[in-house]
Amino acid sequence: MSKFDFSPMPDANGYFGEYGGQQIPPELKAVMDEINQAYEEIRQMPEFKQELADLFADYVGRPSPIFYARRLSEKLGGARIYLKREDLNHTGAHKINHCLGEALLAKYMGKTKVIAETGAGQHGVALATACALVGIPCEIHMGQVDIEKEHPNVVKMKILGCDLIPVTRGTATLKDAVDSAFDEYLKDPQNFIYAIGSVVGPHPFPKMVRDFQSIIGTEARRQFQEREGKLPDYVTACVGGGSNAMGMFTAFLEDDNVGLVGVEPAGLGLDTQKHSATMSLGHPGELHGMKCYVLEQADGTPMPVHSIASGLDYPGVGPQHSYLKDLGRVQYASATDQECLDAFMTLSRVEGIIPALESSHAVAWAMRTAPTLSRDQTILINLSGRGDKDSDYVAEKLGL
Ligand SMILES: *Cc1c(COP(=O)(O)O)cnc(C)c1O
Repeated sequence: MSKFDFSPMPDANGYFGEYGGQQIPPELKAVMDEINQAYEEIRQMPEFKQELADLFADYVGRPSPIFYARRLSEKLGGARIYLKREDLNHTGAHKINHCLGEALLAKYMGKTKVIAETGAGQHGVALATACALVGIPCEIHMGQVDIEKEHPNVVKMKILGCDLIPVTRGTATLKDAVDSAFDEYLKDPQNFIYAIGSVVGPHPFPKMVRDFQSIIGTEARRQFQEREGKLPDYVTACVGGGSNAMGMFTAFLEDDNVGLVGVEPAGLGLDTQKHSATMSLGHPGELHGMKCYVLEQADGTPMPVHSIASGLDYPGVGPQHSYLKDLGRVQYASATDQECLDAFMTLSRVEGIIPALESSHAVAWAMRTAPTLSRDQTILINLSGRGDKDSDYVAEKLGL
């Protein structure tokens, strides 16, 4: 028995302790409640469960393996390090897990269009992929500034057949894309569905996205036990909104002897204005329809955040993470851009695995921590994605 009591999580109103809920106008609340009710029914349907399980297996390529990083472990001298290889999934990251869930849910609910925003384009590509497969129209809103920066993902979304809507209002970046996508959604919430890209937003999204991602930890816990005959001493994952970390941690929450560590981007340093360390430096507040830890400026608006990994620069974090932090069940650490780059290069050269810059934050924490542990201890890293998308940037940055 765990000393922590986690059930039910979230409660009927979508709260994890004091976090989460639906901080939204009443008409939107009705729509979210409808999605919640449909989700609770559909997720129990044998044909839905079977269809999702088949797609995870035959389309995504699940279960993704766990890999003992022998050379990295020996080089660091200390704990033995394992990687959960979400980078090997179709489309190269964990996001496909919840995008397939959301697209399939949209189909079962009879929705005619899936709408979302995207920043760097990772969520957009994963969602466009899932919608192409499920056969449902998909509309992605993206800031004009991001469109110009993220050429490969823009091209992929077009090839995959989604409607890419350039957003020119405001600063023409992610925040404006959210507003634009939401405006479109509100035109017909009966027939459209909004697909959120992490464990954030109003209830039921933090719960739904977590449930779809929890396959990661369910597999990894079993795989690890088969390999080592015990559970890992530490499980770590990077935290932006928190979906890959929640997906990994959920299976281990009640294993009190397993240390859970979320790693946030410290950017240029926690003592600068250039970071995105919401848990380390933020405080409880409200963002995007939920209560959660936030990084705010003095006037209460979200802080402009920075990370070398574009998937991690978010001034909030999922409500369940916020709750787990206060509870003390998960520790939140951080890694700087520089540590992340070092981890990116080390894993590439020592194991032949090029990790996403996001995932490299978790690798950086493991590299810092492993030497302080003994050889019979173990660290399991969720390698959330592969680094192909980051290779040009890193090569230029390091003058390779
Ligand atoms: C988007 C992304 C993340 C960050 O999102 P979370 O919701 O915090 O998991 C992490 N890793 C990769 C590879 C990503 O694409």
